Parts: sequence; C-alpha cells; structure tokens
Amino acid sequence: MGIHPRTRRVGLRLRVVLGLALLPMLMGASARSTNFEVEAPTPEIAQQVARYAEHYRDEIARRWLGEPLPDWPRPCAIRIKMTGGEAGGVTSFGFGRGKMLDQEMSLEGRLDRILASALPHEITHTIFASYFGGPLPRWADEGASLLSEDRRERLRHEQFAADLLARSGGWALGELFTIEEYPQDLMGFYGQGYSVSRFLVEMGGRPRFLAFLRDGMKHNWDAATRAHYGFTNTRELDRAWRSWHLVASRTMPTEPSPGDALVVRAQSPHDHDSR
Ligand SMILES: [Zn+2]
Repeated sequence: MGIHPRTRRVGLRLRVVLGLALLPMLMGASARSTNFEVEAPTPEIAQQVARYAEHYRDEIARRWLGEPLPDWPRPCAIRIKMTGGEAGGVTSFGFGRGKMLDQEMSLEGRLDRILASALPHEITHTIFASYFGGPLPRWADEGASLLSEDRRERLRHEQFAADLLARSGGWALGELFTIEEYPQDLMGFYGQGYSVSRFLVEMGGRPRFLAFLRDGMKHNWDAATRAHYGFTNTRELDRAWRSWHLVASRTMPTEPSPGDALVVRAQSPHDHDSR
C-alpha cells in the first residue's frame, strides 16, 4: 500500500529537475474507466488493461454472484509494470465495518500473460472483497481466483496439487481451511487451494461455495461442510476430495474460464521496453 504515494513523490521531485518534456517517459500513461484507474508504460496498454479489467469485473461477478457488481464509489488503482516474464500480481485491500473501503492492484509480466492470467485472478479477489466485505480464507481466495485464469495457468496448478500430494499428502482440509498466513510451500498451497475450490464448485456450484465460505468463517468448518455438502465433517470431505482428485486432475472442465474466453492479441512487450 505504501509504494504508490512514494513513487508519486519521487516523480514530482524529478519533474522539477528534468522539466516537463521528460514527464511522459518517467510517469508512463494512465487511463480511466468507470471502475479502474490504470497506470502503465504507454496509453495503449493503459487503455487495454482498463478495458479488460471492466470486462472481467462484469464477467466474473456474473459467474459468481449471478449479477454484475454495482460500480465502486472510487476507482481501483492498477499499476502495470512490463517485464519479459510470466505475470504476477498483488492487490491490497482496506476493510472497515464489514465493507471493502479501498483497493490497489499491481500487475507485472508480459502483457498477454497479464491479460489472460494475473488480471482475471486479481479481479476475482476484488469481487470477493466487495461481496464479503472482509478477508476470505486464503485457500479459497486464491483457489477461486485461480479458477478465473486461463487454461495454461490452471494446468500448472493442477500439477502443483499433484506434486504436493505425491510429496507430502498435502494439508488435511480441516487444517487447510484455517490457514491464515501464506505457508512456506506456496506452490503446494496454491495448488491444493485451486484443486479443492475446483472440486467444491464442480460438486455444488458457485453460490453454494460462497455460502459454505460464509458459514465456515462465521461458525465452523465441520458444520458448514455438513450443511452445504452433506458430509459429516471435513475429514469426510477430505476423503471425497482425494478420490475425486485421482480422476479429475487428469481432465479439465469443458467450460472456458474468463481468462480463456478472450483471444488475446497483445502487443509484444519489447515494443515498450525500449522506451
Ligand atoms: Zn491471489
């Protein structure tokens, strides 16, 4: 959260020294849409990211909540850093009195990977933050966000889950559900979170998954498991997930994810790096 204001201050000081002519190169460009304010190296990238962000916000909210999200009172800031590699992102939220008060997103990587993987992932976090008005259990927040990513990324996490199970057996679900801090085995954690989220959504649909999370956070996970999935407790659910995983990890859902649904014709990142 502290990065943004600091960058701005440095920018202002440089402006005085170097003059206005150099500003566009130092500050990049920005684009504003109804719900997003994007800072990126070029106006084209800023506009493209803003367009995709609005599209994903609408599409992912419809998938999960059955309707679009109302416009946010303040736009979500997105800062884009172009690098040659895989995409990654982080979104920080401020919550208060059961509401999401502010949010800020940073994304970096190749533009085509940002658009197909990191952006739909982070947008899913923003939809859950708005819907729940507070932080979600990590495994579900990450797992459900991964479900929005493109096929390539989902296959990678399928593999992380398989590797984790082969290596250590993974977390018992009763334990996974209560993990609050990211554990050291981050890939295993993302892999299992993804696989369990996929299992629960395929078994009972998205509304049930959300109701399960709400109940689990408020009461306890055994009771929520019983109420929403009909298993006696998380141990029974754990057993069911493991048998499902043996088969399902080799097949992908036929429904395209939000990240699959757009044909991404992104500009080569090298066009921008040279600036
Ligand atoms: Zn995430």
